[in-house]
Amino acid sequence: MVAGPLPTRGVLMTSIAELYAFQAIDLELQAAKDELEDVQSELGETEALVAARANVAEERESVAEAERRFKDRESEADDQRNKIEPVQAKLYKGTVQQPKELEDLQQDLESLRRRMSDLEDRALEAMEALEAAQQALSDAEAAFSNVEEEYGSDQAKLVERQANLTERIASLESERAQEIIKIDESMMQLYNQLAPNKQGRAVAKLDGGACGGCRISLPTNVLQRARSGSDIVRCSNCERILFVS
Ligand SMILES: [Zn+2]
Repeated sequence: MVAGPLPTRGVLMTSIAELYAFQAIDLELQAAKDELEDVQSELGETEALVAARANVAEERESVAEAERRFKDRESEADDQRNKIEPVQAKLYKGTVQQPKELEDLQQDLESLRRRMSDLEDRALEAMEALEAAQQALSDAEAAFSNVEEEYGSDQAKLVERQANLTERIASLESERAQEIIKIDESMMQLYNQLAPNKQGRAVAKLDGGACGGCRISLPTNVLQRARSGSDIVRCSNCERILFVS
């Protein structure tokens, strides 16, 4: 494509001013698009929420296991109690007369009682472990509830931000479409060629004697040419189009 002739003085300065304004739209548009991308990447369940939920499930599992263990221990203790009763009854009934048999019976009873005491201790330990597991579950549920509440409010803000940005992008795009037709074709070509390599800033405002893009002080002849508005003048260092406001 062959570029058309460049606009003449005065008209040219206006064109550069329009190009600078157009660049501002483009920059805002890009920033809004980048932010929208960030917002969208944050939508959905967070790691914290997933972890807190998994923790609740884990603690619930621990409680179930502790309950099973406690029931087992309790039933072991009950069984043992049932074993003691007939031995005890037999002993106290006084039907056993033989000293050897009596001694054996007493020894049996003692051994059964010792075992009983051990089993009761184990049942108690299992009950304490169950209580600890229930407390851990309750803590995990409270933590999950906090995380969930925070997540809900964060997501609501993100959804609102997403809607605002989508609206802003549509409005900037329509503004851009209106402005682009005002800009000289050859200038637009130069802009499109420069912008991608200059972080979207193809046009730099002259700031005192320096380029507003790269901050380098410009030689007098460059400044004079830029101020005269007779030509498109570019920064001798960063090559941006210089805009004299
Ligand atoms: Zn520069």
